[in-house]
Amino acid sequence: MKDASVTNIKGIGPKKAALLKKLNIETIKDFWYFFPRTYQDRSKTKTIAALIDGDVVTISATVLMTVKDSYTRGKKQRLRILAEDGTGRIEIIFFNARYLGSSFKQGKRYDFFGKATVTNGKATMVHPEFSDASPKESQGIMPIYPSVRGLRQKDFWKWQRAALEQLESNDTEYLPEEIIEEHNLCSETYALTNIHFPRDRQKLAEAGYRLVFDELLLLQLGLFYLRAGTAGSNDGIMLAPEVTGAEYISSFPYELTGAQNRVLKEIARDMQSSRPMNRLLQGDVGSGKTAIAQIILYQVVKNGFQGVLMAPTEILARQHYDSLKQSYASFGIKTVFLSGSVGAKERAQVLKDIASGEADIIIGTHAIIQPGVVFKNLALVITDEQHRFGVKQRMDLACKGKNPHILVMTATPIPRTLAVILYGDLDISVLDELPPGRQPIKTTVLAPAQKDQAYDFILSQVRQGRQAYVVTPLIEDSEVLDLNSAESVYKTLSERFQPYQTELLHGAMKQSEKDRIMQSFHEGETRILVSTVVIEVGINVPNATVMLIENSERFGLAQLHQLRGRVGRGAEHSYCFLINEGKSEIADQRAEIMASTTDGFVIAEKDLQLRGPGEIFGSRQHGVPQLRIADLSKHMKMLNPIREQAKKIIEEDPKLTSKKYEPIKNKLHEFFPETGKDFLIIT
Ligand code: ADP
Ligand code: MG
Repeated sequence: MKDASVTNIKGIGPKKAALLKKLNIETIKDFWYFFPRTYQDRSKTKTIAALIDGDVVTISATVLMTVKDSYTRGKKQRLRILAEDGTGRIEIIFFNARYLGSSFKQGKRYDFFGKATVTNGKATMVHPEFSDASPKESQGIMPIYPSVRGLRQKDFWKWQRAALEQLESNDTEYLPEEIIEEHNLCSETYALTNIHFPRDRQKLAEAGYRLVFDELLLLQLGLFYLRAGTAGSNDGIMLAPEVTGAEYISSFPYELTGAQNRVLKEIARDMQSSRPMNRLLQGDVGSGKTAIAQIILYQVVKNGFQGVLMAPTEILARQHYDSLKQSYASFGIKTVFLSGSVGAKERAQVLKDIASGEADIIIGTHAIIQPGVVFKNLALVITDEQHRFGVKQRMDLACKGKNPHILVMTATPIPRTLAVILYGDLDISVLDELPPGRQPIKTTVLAPAQKDQAYDFILSQVRQGRQAYVVTPLIEDSEVLDLNSAESVYKTLSERFQPYQTELLHGAMKQSEKDRIMQSFHEGETRILVSTVVIEVGINVPNATVMLIENSERFGLAQLHQLRGRVGRGAEHSYCFLINEGKSEIADQRAEIMASTTDGFVIAEKDLQLRGPGEIFGSRQHGVPQLRIADLSKHMKMLNPIREQAKKIIEEDPKLTSKKYEPIKNKLHEFFPETGKDFLIIT
């Protein structure tokens, strides 16, 4: 019954079913797990006359008239509704809401739920939830569902009630009694009933807790299994402890920092053991992660194996290749490059060298994980700026060797609890020390009118021999967005900064052109680089001391931090200018955070709060399910006990075949999207 089509519910014909399908609701069960977006507490109703500024309430009022007018130079439409309830009048406003069309009929009564504003005795509500006023079926706390055009909340309420009637006869409990008791959970049936139509706030909270617990537990279990393909085995490649690479390290122009030495030891311990390494290396921008990669690749090669360094962008991969191949060549190590833009003939040669073992170190992009690439004896895989890689890609890569050691490097620090749930029992190393002599980057937030000062400042730095970046959100001017494009900024600046050389760089350029420009910037011939975010990750030109970001409001915190990290990499003082043309509070907040700290960990925590953790997982294609109700930043505290619980389950019954745990296995298969299932190696 639970898998029966929604058309079994009275009132749902093919038309409504098609609309519901857009919301991924096809069966009765889908209805149960289609959680409300928010709730409307109808027990809190007020008359218009009694409204106080800031009240979040329901009012029930009759529409007197509706007016459509426009704002922002006629581009956007606004719907204004005047309504009254016998005690007073209220104006209801919907911005940019064409979809509402003629939803409101004059003379009809509706319930509006939202935040009321009262100024000078005039009451308004902007974008309230609304429904026909119908007291019988809508009392107490009512669910509000994410909807599409053509489906009304009232319909949802009716259908959801009908769907839930099937619940009793379909008791879905899949957790064993002892887990329910230990974590003080309510039953799943109770949770599903009360998440939709809670009898009071307490019951809603209990229901929410149970469902969040379920999602996080399944997620954690699934992630353990996702990893199982590479971890846990005891036939890792053991490297010889004698091969320290000391002769190579002493060829560096600097001494390693204490943190670098410590991390090298942590890695050595892993690679010299029979358990394959699976380690995350976190280090803020500029902390010297590349040196770590460089050294351990060297160690692997001197042990007679091959190593891979993979980067998320072509530019970054090339930079690594260009800077490393020389230093390796003088120690008799052959480095090759592989990316999508390598020509067919050259590619064939590179593949041959990789297969024969002629090539010791392979540097490149995703192209390395394509099926045609076969290694002779791969022992180490390093991914740089890992947050760009999904779980699946990491797995693909790992499958290229026999349990190779894996190191993922990232400058985007993930709060410990999150990292743990994301990577299971991944080990973590931290580079918490910047190389000596680094000056903190001075960050200034400017209004558009002050931009000239920043440009003048760039000129003065360039006159002193330094270089600068100017980053913009768009390549070319757009008719829709009023933003500074790289092309128009480039035009202005290349004249303004004469006789110094300015160049333009963006992602739509031909690879050879990009290479030429980066080369010229690396060599110091180009002094000012106007660019889109193609330079975001990893670019290393220590002589660059100014980073100016146009329309900084268009960038997220992590991105701003990465961009700023392009400067302050040498011994000179460095500066970052954020030209904030945004009017939103969140843009101001971001700018403020950037100006107040350069600590990547602090920024990451704030980012998580402002933005939510969705992006940290990467997209759905990577095999990680969408969370429907749990929110990793909000429910962080629940993660630790849940992780312990998941571990216990796996220890007791790794294959989940016992009577006690088999229902969990079935649930896991439902929970993970198709793409993830391939990696759920529970047999
Ligand atoms: P990231 O961690 O952001 O990848 P990089 O590895 O690109 O940082 O290093 C940033 C800069 O610091 C590079 O120019 C590198 O040569 C330099 N560097 C790395 N380690 C040290 C060190 N121990 N002492 C001085 N400079 C260092
Ligand atoms: Mg780097």
